[in-house]
Amino acid sequence: MSRTTPNASSRISSTALIMIFITLALSLTALILAVTSFNIGNEVVAEYLLLIGLIGIALSGYVLLQTRRRIMRLRIETQPITTTIECKKCGFKSIREFQRGDYVFKELEPCQKCNDKMMITAIYREVKEKGREPASP
Ligand SMILES: [Zn+2]
Repeated sequence: MSRTTPNASSRISSTALIMIFITLALSLTALILAVTSFNIGNEVVAEYLLLIGLIGIALSGYVLLQTRRRIMRLRIETQPITTTIECKKCGFKSIREFQRGDYVFKELEPCQKCNDKMMITAIYREVKEKGREPASP
């Protein structure tokens, strides 16, 4: 039921991984060329290539971090159903992820505070729409 997005997350990660791989390969090439030109005696070109190589490695690391964060966010969004448990006696409220077999007015384990029976009072899907991020071109 809630397993509808693994395709999307894996597609994003594989595309990003290819991009990271290409960027890394290019930066490594730049670094190798930097060493070569340094050996030849062309220090200005060597420094320039070194800079390109380092920027490329930093960029790919940044993209990798961003992708991981996005995948984690996707994973959170696939489990948006929340169960609210309430104690009728003292009003203690507890919120947890929806579990199979949950239904409203179901009695659960005793209250942490007063030891009276707790009851599920609400089951709802959390909707967090914080302005969608534009898809990568
Ligand atoms: Zn209580």
